[in-house]
Amino acid sequence: MTAETLTILFAGREAQRHEWEAPLRAAAAEQGVDMRLFMTPEEVDPAEVHALIYNPNGPVKDFAPYTNLRAVLSLWAGVEKIVGDDRIQVPLARMVEPGLTLGMTDWVCAHVLRHHMGIDAHLALAPGEWPQRIPPLTRNRKVGVLGLGELGTDAAKMLAALRFDTAGWARSRHEIEGVETFHGPEGLEAILARSEILVLLLPDTPDTTNLLDARRLAMLPEGAVIVNPGRGPLIDDDALLAALDAGRVGHATLDVFRVEPLPADHPYWAHPKVTVTPHIASATRPETASGALVEQIGRLSRGEPLLHVVDRRRGY
Ligand code: NDP
Repeated sequence: MTAETLTILFAGREAQRHEWEAPLRAAAAEQGVDMRLFMTPEEVDPAEVHALIYNPNGPVKDFAPYTNLRAVLSLWAGVEKIVGDDRIQVPLARMVEPGLTLGMTDWVCAHVLRHHMGIDAHLALAPGEWPQRIPPLTRNRKVGVLGLGELGTDAAKMLAALRFDTAGWARSRHEIEGVETFHGPEGLEAILARSEILVLLLPDTPDTTNLLDARRLAMLPEGAVIVNPGRGPLIDDDALLAALDAGRVGHATLDVFRVEPLPADHPYWAHPKVTVTPHIASATRPETASGALVEQIGRLSRGEPLLHVVDRRRGY
């Protein structure tokens, strides 16, 4: 089938424009995809735009003038801010790109290893102290990953490659070599009961809001560690603070929050058993994501279905 030359508007933040233009044009040349690319809404008649490369914090707030839109290509993997927007009546594709996946796996492994090895105790060592506590081998440490999508699966595979006793949980049944998998409500109880370190890589949807509430936190082994690079609303914050204070949960490393930036007076900042990272677990990287976006544009121009289209009913 012959490919149509489509008009694409990069609707990212002002600061992103400069870092994205060259990689997007280079990827288009490499893949042989002809497109008319505009980097600001002022440069193009909205009625001519076929696809938006979209960031909800970017310049496009009103979709009405984009009367010939065929797709919205999200710059983010998490689409909770867009998925309920019924002004978007065309397919919405979420971001899946190798840099985002690899970066997340790096972050997850680093924080899991920190807690597994007890690195904090050594950073805090005072002169003369010599506590020789030997950590268990990774194969004797049970790690659970909630969410086995693009990111959770890669993280679980790498944790298993590090020889952690790794399990994963999702809505549907998954098979991952070297990883024990669970699904559904009973599966959730089973994975919580075994996870000494629990990693959350679920999307924020009505079904996952407050998934980790007081009742589910109480199912974790005493002193379990929570690592959340998924989304803030997955955790009931008050329940987590209570579980940390009671020692039920040993530590929480949190990258994402209900309100970001995390307000300066939020109890997480001062809590000795909480590590805050500023939503940097991973990021969409122009050098790796441009290829993924151009692949989607190529598909659109050939009339082929897009990849990673969001199921609006499920919310991810
Ligand atoms: P995917 O859509 O590929 O995977 C989502 C996974 O969650 C799937 O395995 C899905 O199950 C599972 N899931 C969804 N809802 C439920 C539910 N109700 N019960 C059980 N399992 C459920 O997403 P990604 O892996 O690409 O990304 C995951 C999340 O990571 C994003 O939504 C985003 O919030 C977050 N993220 C955070 C970043 C950061 O820097 N902190 C960066 C990028 C993403 P199934 O497989 O059965 O469909």
